[in-house]
Amino acid sequence: MDKTDVIIIGAGPAGASAAIKLAQGGKKVVLIDRGMPIGSKNLSGGVLWGNDLHEIIPNWQLEAPVERTIVNKKIGFLSVEDATVLDLHFDSWDKENYSGVSVLRAKFDEWLANEAQKAGAAVLSGIMIDSLIIKDGKVVGVKQNDEELFADTVIIAEGSNARLLLDHGLMKDPSKHRFERKEMLIGVKEVLTLTRDVMEERFLLDENTGLAGEFILGNVPDGVKAGGFFYTNKDTLSIGVVIHLDSLNSEVRSYEVIEYFKQHPLIAKYIKNAVSVEYGAKTVPEMGYDNFPPLYGDGYMVIGDAAGFVFSNGLVIQGMNYAIKSGILAADTIIEGGDLKNYEKKLNNSYVLKDFKKFKKVKKLTKNKRLFELYPTGINNALKDILTERGEPKQSLIKKALKAMKQSGIGLFSLIKDGLSARHI
Ligand SMILES: Cc1cc2nc3c(=O)[nH]c(=O)nc-3n(C[C@H](O)[C@H](O)[C@H](O)COP(=O)(O)OP(=O)(O)OC[C@H]3O[C@@H](n4cnc5c(N)ncnc54)[C@H](O)[C@@H]3O)c2cc1C
Repeated sequence: MDKTDVIIIGAGPAGASAAIKLAQGGKKVVLIDRGMPIGSKNLSGGVLWGNDLHEIIPNWQLEAPVERTIVNKKIGFLSVEDATVLDLHFDSWDKENYSGVSVLRAKFDEWLANEAQKAGAAVLSGIMIDSLIIKDGKVVGVKQNDEELFADTVIIAEGSNARLLLDHGLMKDPSKHRFERKEMLIGVKEVLTLTRDVMEERFLLDENTGLAGEFILGNVPDGVKAGGFFYTNKDTLSIGVVIHLDSLNSEVRSYEVIEYFKQHPLIAKYIKNAVSVEYGAKTVPEMGYDNFPPLYGDGYMVIGDAAGFVFSNGLVIQGMNYAIKSGILAADTIIEGGDLKNYEKKLNNSYVLKDFKKFKKVKKLTKNKRLFELYPTGINNALKDILTERGEPKQSLIKKALKAMKQSGIGLFSLIKDGLSARHI
């Protein structure tokens, strides 16, 4: 076989979902991934909000290798010694069909690729596509070493590094050879083992329920803008940091930032006696609505991280849901007749581009140095001052809070400005 209906490059959540939908729609589809087994190179924190998976695999949670249903969220600000944490418990999330679950990507991606195979897609693992084949401006196939495979449509689902898009100049600005540092984050993640009993006791969990913690880090060297996260799996903990690439300098390495997070007194208690069993780093695109590459062109479409579909607001990172949805919409476009401009229309009508459009100003907030350098300390100091009894005459709470904020470097005007830009969240 040297020609098929569709070739998909990359079997992450985006590519595998597109493959399932296409195979279900009767298309001949080849899904190709460099990982062997599929998923072995993939890394993410990972809380999966898999609403869209129900469309292609009804009740997928019952079969998929999910770890725990997230019912508890901790959201907070860490200063060097202190932590202010909002502790949210939503037991009802465990009863709803569309809840968020923690997943380990190595297992999950392998399972999803198997589902694509079961649906009828040809799945090829351990193959790294070197280049696209472009004839008269149209993408007509892919190449690995001297081997060529042709298709009516190629779907590019290669993830955040998007090497093929860059190599072939399929960017918004074709003169760009790399994504700019200011448009990228880097995630560093570890998996730590804890026995199931310890995990459930330490995090107050039932057999299947789980916890997601997300924090703004004020306990890292000055200038570094980073968030930290941990997610409970069955008997492991995914823990990591996501750092703005342009905030790293030659004196601070990404692998040091995760150590700052792990050494914070609050986090150190959570991970006591845990042993590291997996470690990795991966880029995360943060291009925003105005900087996506062309989402389709003659003969091809771009889905998932390769298109830049990751939402981040400093605390939360979501990309798997957008990956799955964009994959399904790309597949629908082909099934319905193949006019590729309909893909962008479908994205515009779905929550994918609506979200990125609506929240495009959030990027300004997540780039704000004060969010990372001053607020974690300011908030902790303000609350500590309000709540500490020092045997002195009482002051009004607001006065105390403003004074503590000012001492931490945040003046009233900055507070007002940042309050205004926070309305975009
Ligand atoms: C530390 C971290 C934490 C995160 N946490 C979350 C979270 O909690 N929730 C969430 O929703 N999202 C999270 N994300 C984002 C999420 O991981 C991505 O948005 C998601 O994986 C995108 O899926 P994708 O299929 O587009 O790309 P990927 O998952 O990156 O898959 C791309 C696939 O393409 C393959 N590939 C690449 N190039 C080639 C080639 N040339 N030939 C063949 N195969 C190729 C790769 O092997 C890979 O399997 C996190 C990301 C990071 C880094």
